[in-house]
Amino acid sequence: MANAAGPVYIVGAGPGDPDLLTVKAVRLIGAADVVVYDRLVSDAVMALIPSGTTRIFAGKVARNHHMPQPDINDLLVGLARSHRVVVRLKGGDPFVFGRGGEEAKHLARAGIPFEIVPGVTSASGCSAYAGIPLTHRGLAHGVRYVTGHTQEDDTLDLNWPSLADPDTTLVIYMGRITAPRLCEQLIAHGLDAKTPAAAVINGTRPDQETVTTTLADLPDAIESLGRAAPTLLIVGRVVALSDALAWFAPRRSKGEEAAG
Ligand code: SAH
Repeated sequence: MANAAGPVYIVGAGPGDPDLLTVKAVRLIGAADVVVYDRLVSDAVMALIPSGTTRIFAGKVARNHHMPQPDINDLLVGLARSHRVVVRLKGGDPFVFGRGGEEAKHLARAGIPFEIVPGVTSASGCSAYAGIPLTHRGLAHGVRYVTGHTQEDDTLDLNWPSLADPDTTLVIYMGRITAPRLCEQLIAHGLDAKTPAAAVINGTRPDQETVTTTLADLPDAIESLGRAAPTLLIVGRVVALSDALAWFAPRRSKGEEAAG
């Protein structure tokens, strides 16, 4: 019976470092009967799930969908009807390129109560751990989060003229594969090719790697890096601050000198 079900907690797991979990996330992970998790949830966060708790992988690998979104939605409804505490654990923040909204809508339609627990989105986690303030007086008066993931027809549906703004930091999620096109379009729409740019790989994790270079050289600089690892791109003058502010840099590599 639907009215006995739930709630389902849609919980942000942050970018990797388990110390970045919210107190509420830790409490719910410890209390869950079942945890449905994503590929982006780090091993260190997974290690916090008690050994007796059921774990279900509902991850997605780019272009290789393990479990289609409608199946995940139905899974959550089914679990809510048969378990007391269901935690849907998602990398970063559930409401930032996390499809948390779609899952919550589906639960709402099915009459299942839910709660959203925010997490540290990778833009915040990676920028903090790479020493790149997303805004900084005199360098960037705003920040935009966009996705580099392509549409079904392989196009990148972005508003290039508005993104090519030297006063706004641009954070690109899922941009690893499309980096060459992204950089080319930004330059074609007027952003200086020498604009500082960074890629943060495995941000906040023990194997974090940061590459700082210029917009023009970013695609080459990340070419040799692991394609499977989560990668966040940051473009803007603030990237130059990482030389002075990077405090967590287990493996820092440097591409071309960023123009400051
Ligand atoms: N909801 C997530 C984003 C999911 S989209 C969030 O709020 O962070 C997946 C993209 O997030 C990846 O392609 C990558 O661009 C970024 N990402 C997530 N975790 C990351 C990490 N630890 N290091 C670098 N990028 C990460």
